[in-house]
Amino acid sequence: MTNSTRIEMTSRPEGWPTLENFTVVEAELPPLAEGEVRVKNEFISLDPYMRGLMDDTDVDIDGPPYQLNQPLSGGAVGHVVESRHPDLPVGTAVQHDHGWRDIAQGPAEDFQQLNPTLPLSSYLGILGLTGMTAWSGLLSVGRFKEGDAVFVSGAAGAVGSVVGQIAKLKGASLVVGSAGSAEKVATLLDKYHFDRAFNYKDGPVGEQLKTAAPDGIDLYFDNVGGEHLTAAIDSLNLFGRITACGMSSIYNATEPQPGPDNLIMVIDKRLSINGLIAYDFYDRFAEFEKEMSDWIRDGKIHYDETIIDGIENAPQAFLDLLAGANTGKTVVRI
Ligand code: NDP
Repeated sequence: MTNSTRIEMTSRPEGWPTLENFTVVEAELPPLAEGEVRVKNEFISLDPYMRGLMDDTDVDIDGPPYQLNQPLSGGAVGHVVESRHPDLPVGTAVQHDHGWRDIAQGPAEDFQQLNPTLPLSSYLGILGLTGMTAWSGLLSVGRFKEGDAVFVSGAAGAVGSVVGQIAKLKGASLVVGSAGSAEKVATLLDKYHFDRAFNYKDGPVGEQLKTAAPDGIDLYFDNVGGEHLTAAIDSLNLFGRITACGMSSIYNATEPQPGPDNLIMVIDKRLSINGLIAYDFYDRFAEFEKEMSDWIRDGKIHYDETIIDGIENAPQAFLDLLAGANTGKTVVRI
């Protein structure tokens, strides 16, 4: 008999989620059917997009909403511990979407084999969705070119920290990042080698951005929306580009949030705003993986992980992620 400990949602959050929205459930797993595998998860991923799945809205690009009192989905990595499928023998490292639990089980097609050359957790972050988001959002959607002055919000997060470093590696003339604490700002400058960085809580974003980039910016990688987006539109140069990646500042809003009040500048400055969905670029995953692995191996890209121990601590870790307690990728170690 095998038990799995998993997190379920017992109620939908209104505004900011609380611990009361979640519960820890211990459930007995059925015996493996033909073609199934059982996987011991070693790391599960926590991501801001999961907040959207907690609302009872229509199916969106991230999948159907989470169901109450049901297992939650989310990225995870681990090893096969029992198998009834020849392609995934015991011991195989796998990546899959049965996160928020310690033991996952299902048809072998749900699990992708990994041949890890880096720690397993990195396949949830720098070599997974978040790395891919940064790479495709900057280079393809943002049409980055050498000499661009780039501004990144959420810059100490999983995606933002990688965006800034790729921009530097590809020849940006200036890379500016914003984040929500003095410690994060120091990390941007000292570890990720951004040219300039500021704490958006220290004063108006528009003013701080103009000080950091007095000649304007060419590309804005938006992870947070809101005041940052308005400030970026103000600072963008002619033919500037915006990669709209995320809007962390409004995920917990209970009312519709106003848009930027300076959109008329999009016309005058001939700006482009392009939405990014990283999955659109998964046909280029091998290209991304090769380039990113080389950068990591050569010490050209640094990445952080905020690691929380214990599946039962996943709900608190998720709340902390939304509140900005993380630097880099947030994972729970099982
Ligand atoms: P992060 O690691 O950046 O974590 C979220 C961060 O948002 C927090 O650490 C916090 O940092 C910041 N934040 C929270 N509230 C605010 C606020 N009011 N204003 C400014 N910043 C805030 O997450 P990820 O790197 O994983 O994701 C970054 C963004 O990219 C998210 O919006 C996510 O939804 C999006 N995304 C989009 C994808 C796509 O395909 N379009 C794919 C993956 C992610 P701080 O301390 O600096 O405030």
